[in-house]
Amino acid sequence: MATRYAFFGGAIVPIEQARVSIMTHTLNYGTGCFEGIRAYWNPDEEQLFIFRMPEHYERLHQSSHILHCQLPYTVQQLGDITIELLRREGFRQDTYIRPLVYKATEGIGVRLHNLEDAFALFALPYGKYVDSEEGCRACVSSWRRLDDNMIPPRAKVVGSYVNSALCKTEAALNGYDEAIVLDEEGHVSEGSAENLFMVRRGVLVTPGETANILEGITRATVMQLAREELGIETVVRPIDRTELYVADELFYCGTGVQIAVVTEVDHRPIGSGQMGPVGRMLRDLYFDIVRGRNAKYRHWCTPVYA
Ligand code: PMP
Repeated sequence: MATRYAFFGGAIVPIEQARVSIMTHTLNYGTGCFEGIRAYWNPDEEQLFIFRMPEHYERLHQSSHILHCQLPYTVQQLGDITIELLRREGFRQDTYIRPLVYKATEGIGVRLHNLEDAFALFALPYGKYVDSEEGCRACVSSWRRLDDNMIPPRAKVVGSYVNSALCKTEAALNGYDEAIVLDEEGHVSEGSAENLFMVRRGVLVTPGETANILEGITRATVMQLAREELGIETVVRPIDRTELYVADELFYCGTGVQIAVVTEVDHRPIGSGQMGPVGRMLRDLYFDIVRGRNAKYRHWCTPVYA
């Protein structure tokens, strides 16, 4: 099924009508912010579940706040609009949802203030983000991660995805599945569009909130599941590049990538070179939870259909 509708200009309209001018500020300067949300089809219940939607809309509000964007809908209203749009689409398959807050003013002039803001939303059927979720080959990017004082990675800014795209394309053209991106100090930040976890000496480790990461909702999910279901606490600390090479396990996590195991970095196999036990257990838990199949975490899943 293809996308038929969008929420645009305050209403659900046919997707062909959801168009902007080439003079739109965000198209010229990257001045907007967005979210990426997944909805999962559960065939047994004939239900589409949106995963952690309020958390995504809270982050969209934070991104908007950082960028001086006015988002005229509450988290609850954004959720209602999303459900309405998905019902109209009638999707019965896994879906990716893209809310966008953009500077709709048509004209020239680099700034964030005194501009008209707009909100738009569309959704499309979506499968895997990386093909090799069970064994990614990664490289350390020659590009560096953006810094909080350049374009803040904490906000999901449209323009900052040039940094992600440079990393992703370099990795792909060099024959890898994904990139691992270091910050200006040379410590591990995250993937091109996903957070990173390492298992080393039985400890789960991930870079902290000041490592120029996007504060991922899947990252928070992984930490909670590791603690509550596997009895593993996550240590949040800087990670060196060469710690990656000697890690027992590595995995990416994010809405798009879900939980994808990294089995090779810079031509060094990680651990056994196969998916490790922690990554496997977290993946199994995650894929059940997102489809509403785990009662304890069912509150993370918003049903679309009545
Ligand atoms: N980092 C970056 C740069 C991202 O674009 C994403 C995807 N939104 C993530 C991390 C993962 O965040 P989340 O788990 O909230 O999707």
